[in-house]
Amino acid sequence: MSTVRSPGGAEALLADGTTVEIRPLGPDDHGAVLGLHADGMSEESRRMRFFGVSRNAPRQAADRLCGPPRTGLLALGAWAGEELVGEADCELLDEPPDTAELALAVADRWHHRGVATLLLEHLVHAARAAGVRFFEADTLGGNHAVHQVFADLGLPVERRYAHGELRVRVPLDENDERYRSAVDERGRSADVASLAALLRPASVAVVGASRREGSVGRTVLTRIRRGGFAGALWAVNPHADEIGGVPAYPSVAALPAVPDLALLAVPVGAVPGVAEECGAAGVRALVVLTSGLGAQEARGLMRACRRHSMRLVGPNSLGMAQTDPAVRLDAEFGGAFPRPGTAGVAVQSGGVGIALLSRLAWLGIGVSSFVSLGDKYDVSGNDLLQWWESDDRTDLALLHLESFGSPRAFGRTARRVTRSIPVLTVDAGRSTAGRRGAASHTAAAATPTVTREALFRQAGITATRSIDELVETAALLRAQPLPAPRGAVAVVSNAGGIGVLAADACAEAGLGLPELPAELGKLLPPGASVRNPVDTTAAIGPTELALFLRALEREPAVDAILVCLVPTALGTTPAQDPVRALLEGPARRRVPIAAVLLDQQVPVRYRTCADGGVLPAYSDSVAAARALGHARDRARWLAEAPSALAVAPDCDRRAVRSLVDGYLTAHPDGGWLDPLSTADLLGAYGLPLTASVWAHDEHMAVAAADGLRPLGHEGKVALKAYWPGQVHKSALGAVRTGLGTEAEVRAAYREFTERFGTELTGAVVQPMAAPGVELLAGVVQDQVFGPLVVLGAGGTAADVLADRSARLAPLSEHDLTAMVAELRSAPLLSGAAGTPAVDLAAVRSVLARLSRLADDFPELVEADLNPVILRPDGAVCVDTRVRLERRPSFDPYLRRLRRPAAAEGE
Ligand code: ADP
Ligand code: MG
Repeated sequence: MSTVRSPGGAEALLADGTTVEIRPLGPDDHGAVLGLHADGMSEESRRMRFFGVSRNAPRQAADRLCGPPRTGLLALGAWAGEELVGEADCELLDEPPDTAELALAVADRWHHRGVATLLLEHLVHAARAAGVRFFEADTLGGNHAVHQVFADLGLPVERRYAHGELRVRVPLDENDERYRSAVDERGRSADVASLAALLRPASVAVVGASRREGSVGRTVLTRIRRGGFAGALWAVNPHADEIGGVPAYPSVAALPAVPDLALLAVPVGAVPGVAEECGAAGVRALVVLTSGLGAQEARGLMRACRRHSMRLVGPNSLGMAQTDPAVRLDAEFGGAFPRPGTAGVAVQSGGVGIALLSRLAWLGIGVSSFVSLGDKYDVSGNDLLQWWESDDRTDLALLHLESFGSPRAFGRTARRVTRSIPVLTVDAGRSTAGRRGAASHTAAAATPTVTREALFRQAGITATRSIDELVETAALLRAQPLPAPRGAVAVVSNAGGIGVLAADACAEAGLGLPELPAELGKLLPPGASVRNPVDTTAAIGPTELALFLRALEREPAVDAILVCLVPTALGTTPAQDPVRALLEGPARRRVPIAAVLLDQQVPVRYRTCADGGVLPAYSDSVAAARALGHARDRARWLAEAPSALAVAPDCDRRAVRSLVDGYLTAHPDGGWLDPLSTADLLGAYGLPLTASVWAHDEHMAVAAADGLRPLGHEGKVALKAYWPGQVHKSALGAVRTGLGTEAEVRAAYREFTERFGTELTGAVVQPMAAPGVELLAGVVQDQVFGPLVVLGAGGTAADVLADRSARLAPLSEHDLTAMVAELRSAPLLSGAAGTPAVDLAAVRSVLARLSRLADDFPELVEADLNPVILRPDGAVCVDTRVRLERRPSFDPYLRRLRRPAAAEGE
């Protein structure tokens, strides 16, 4: 490592939910650092906290940290408003290599609030990005204190003797899942602590509540009052003493007490000022209902929130609701007050929120908390997921998100939350046109839809395609048990044609219909068929059907039951109505049961059974089958043990780092690597590349071919013309395969010269690989989602076949299995299509290495390996392309609050 780059500033939450800013220390901070060490800390804390040896005096510390910028020093400060509450720094040692000396100080009155761990997390991130691999500290200040800090942090501590002294050594291994989990856990509890003022406030003020009925502020105020809010409620309005029965005050500062939460319904221009006023008064959370903020207002609002440690919902929010009887806050201007229940709902678009709440209300699904996120400057879906995870009242999460601020962090949170409660989302924005004119097969495959699907799948999120599908699926998940992961459905209908349609719907939802034992037929009327779908005929009565269902639910081959009933002339009297068979039975059975009632007027509703439980009834079997399909997917997700990250041993990170830095220094705008550098880069991560020799004239090509021919299949070589900026070579006649003789090589090279003229910079000579199955493997970095790894059917027809699977890096072992299994051409690999089975371990290894490479190097914006030729004895890539671009090192798991784009810039 030569230079240490300083990271930019970021805001993050302390354990109690307070916001602090973490930013690099500089010469301007000398006074603050001096103050921290001299006044902020007792003699005892100085002794305990100073890990560094050269730290005897506060002035020395300030001089060391705030002198002119020094190579090898990284120093971060944590600021609460204008106060420096802690600092953490590390400075590279001459020996041992990649090791930095660590020091840390926290002001006494800020102890036990997580300042040290937060600072260290940020320092670990910055140090890793700068190539530091170990922290060291001496143990003078008390072995115990050092150990405790690192034990809290989740990093292992080793001991080392140096110059007769015991030193502690902390390896900063980047794939340390224990550390990441510890960071997650701290993030969750800090987040929940910070959200309490928003979601369980004891007092609320509506700022900008006008006397005019029908205005936003007035409407929200009235709703809070009518909703029976359990805490104190005030209005802020300079022109009234009372609004709609609520006492009003001229300003936030004039309120009788500081409200936990303020709802802002003021004009756009007043938003920053009012936010600042709230913050200065000590308000802990804001919901901004105002919309249409410009950049200046956005910045002012964010600044006030961060400086005064307020969480923010909106702007452009419809409000929020908390149905807990101890709170009862209905602070929104959408539909009716949601009835209390167990579904957590968060929406980005207010309109979707209204639609969703009204459907849930109609269906009878109650809500625990509802938040209209609006423009999501701060509080996002990620925050709500963590809140619901910690909230005993919530057992189902419904999200509508149009955009993702930090999808990787969201995915990581969701992966944990979906283990305990179902998380359902509407996948919005599917129709965005794919990347047109993509320069590689991998990029062509990485459409926004594919990327989002990968995120949802890896996180165990139930992604639906419409609000209706979301509600239909929620109806099943909430009321019925999950099926076994196999998801075998018995379809029962009293009209044959209806049963066939339902069977088709099941097949389309990926659900199998098992064969049923013939003896079940004895329970059915004459003429009935017990083949699945079961046709009971219209002659079946409620008693017979109830008996049949009871037998079916005990049948081991059956994981779910779909009962489709049409009213027939035979069942017109209540006593004959087959629906009674369902309603008089238990609502919850061994397997989930969904009804399709073809005369039902609404898409889904609950029918109450004799035992008081409910059964979801759909008007169409497509909706019912889709809901069962989602339930089966969830069962599979839960059955799968959380899988370890895929391992890719022996990757030479240092070699690739120097290659990447070298290329980007020479090409600041980035670009495609030449074939030899591509091979060096991929080779350093152990990707199986065919031998390639570069030739810039005919003579060299012939010599190279002579050397490579013995390695080639049937003693032959391939010759590929090269010029910078080339895209698909074979379409342009730039690939010659199966060259067996010197004359053929000569002729091929000459033809290249004639065809491509001065553009041609040379050619690559390779041994011919033995034929096998051609796959495509690659990586694309999405600016927002991070790296996406793609596997697909390969060769020159890759784009036409469009047979692909994709997952976001880092891949787990399970992802590797799923990616291969998902391909339509998977049978070609397993030997099921009559071809010999290929070396699947080799495919997995290619994917794991690409994942690690992309995760380690955000600069690798595109890598395309096509084809990877697979055979029973291994894999070899014969065509590789890599594009690099300057990208900041970014740890998606670092704890920091978002900085909305709308409020960026000065
Ligand atoms: P491009 O994808 O740019 O058209 P490739 O280098 O992938 O060019 O070559 C096109 C096709 O030629 C490959 O899909 C593969 O079928 C075949 N091919 C290329 N190089 C070799 C090789 N060394 N051994 C065997 N087949 C090869
Ligand atoms: Mg190719």
